[in-house]
Amino acid sequence: MQGALRKNIFNPKIMNKKFPFSGISSVAMHASGHENAEYSHLTPIYASSTFTFDSAQQGSDRFAGADKTRIYSRWGNPTFTTAEETIAALETFGVNDANGNPLEVKALLHASGQAAMTTLFLSTLKSGDTVLSHFSLYGGTHELFLKVLADTGVKTTIIDMRDLNLVEDALKKDPSIKMVHIETPANPTIQCVDIEEVTLLAKQYNILVSVDNTFATPYLQQPFRYGVDFVFHSTTKFLNGHGTSIGGVLLGRDLEFMRTKVWKWHALLGGNSNPFDAFLLTQGMKTLELRMDRHCDNAMKVAEYLSQHPAIGHVNYNGLASHPDHLVTTKQMRHPGALMSYELKGGLDAGRRFIDALQMCVRAVSLGTVDTLVSHPATMSHFGLKREERIQFGITDGLIRMSVGIENIADILTDLEQALGKA
Ligand SMILES: *Cc1c(COP(=O)(O)O)cnc(C)c1O
Repeated sequence: MQGALRKNIFNPKIMNKKFPFSGISSVAMHASGHENAEYSHLTPIYASSTFTFDSAQQGSDRFAGADKTRIYSRWGNPTFTTAEETIAALETFGVNDANGNPLEVKALLHASGQAAMTTLFLSTLKSGDTVLSHFSLYGGTHELFLKVLADTGVKTTIIDMRDLNLVEDALKKDPSIKMVHIETPANPTIQCVDIEEVTLLAKQYNILVSVDNTFATPYLQQPFRYGVDFVFHSTTKFLNGHGTSIGGVLLGRDLEFMRTKVWKWHALLGGNSNPFDAFLLTQGMKTLELRMDRHCDNAMKVAEYLSQHPAIGHVNYNGLASHPDHLVTTKQMRHPGALMSYELKGGLDAGRRFIDALQMCVRAVSLGTVDTLVSHPATMSHFGLKREERIQFGITDGLIRMSVGIENIADILTDLEQALGKA
C-alpha cells in the first residue's frame, strides 16, 4: 500500500537509463528521487518526527530493513534524503571506483558541520588511536581534536602536511595513527594539501583518509577521485550558499560501514538535521555551479586588484602564482575558489578602520554566502587568543579574511577602494 502511494516522478534510476548528465547543474537539480505521494514538484518539508505503520507486520518489516520506509526522523527523513542523495551525486559525478564503475557513496546529513565531524571521528577512532592533521585547520575542528577527542583518549598529531616527507615520517614512526584528516584549502592563508599524494602514502599504511571539502565544494574539487574514505562539508557555507541554515554532511565510500556503524553513531549521537534546513540546502544547491563560477571569477579579480594596491602587504590567494600552494591548487581544483586573506600594511588599527569603512561588503564571520563577507580575525574570531598564539596560526594584526560574493564585481572593487582609502 505504502509503496503504491509513492510516485518517483524523477527517479534517478529511471532517468540515468536515459542518458548520463554532462554537468553538475543537472545533477544538482535532478539526481535525487523527489519521492512524494502528491506529485509535488519540490520535495516537501516532511515536518514529522515519526512515520506510521499500517500494521504490526509492516512495523516489523521496517525494523528488519525489508521495508525501507522511514520510521523516526532522527534515523532519517525524506527531506534529508533528497539533500543527501544530491550531495552524494555531486561528490561522485564522473568519479569511478577501482573497477571502473560509477562510484557510489553514502551521505548522512547532520545538524551542523561540527555534528558531522563528531560522528566521523567518534565512529572511526577509539582510545589509543591518533589522528594526523595539518596545522592550518578550521577552529572548531582544532578544538574538537584538542578538547573532545583528547578526553576520549584519541590523540592528535599536527604537522605541515604540505611536506610529504613529514607525512611519511609520521606514518612510519607512529603505528597508533588511524586516520589522516585533510582540510584543503584551509583558513586563513588558503593553504592546500595534495590530496592524491597524502592518500597514496596513507593507503600504504592502511590508514583512513578524510577530507574537509567545505571551501572547495564538489564543483571545484572531488576528493573521492583520489581514493579518500570520507568527505565532509559544513553545508552552512557554499552548498547552502545563502546563509539560511547551519548544516553538515558526512559522506563515506565504504557503504556497509556507513550503513552500520557510522549510521548507528550518527543516530545515537543525535546530531540529525531538520526538515526545514534540509529543504533550504536542497534549494541552495541547485545553483551551485552558477554561483561558484561567479564567486570564483570575482575572487580572481579581487585578488589581482588587491595585489597591486599600495595599502596591502600580502595577498593569500591560491589562485595567484605567488601563493606557495598554487601548483597543488592547479592540480586538484577546477578553480582556486572564493576565499582569500590579505594583510593591511597599517596593522591592527588599519584593520579596524577598513572594516568600519565598508559600505556594501558585509561585516561577518562565516563564508560561502552569495554576498561578500569580510572579517578581521585579530579583533573578531581570534580576539580571545594571545597575540603570539594567533600569529603562530598566521593571524597577523592587519589580516583581513574575505569570502568573495557574487555581487557585481565593479561594486565589490569600488567598496574595497573607498574602504582602503580610509584605512
Ligand atoms: C564552518 C566550517 C566547519 C564547521 O561547520 P558548522 O556548520 O559551523 O558546524 C568546519 N570546517 C570548515 C572548513 C568550516 O568552514
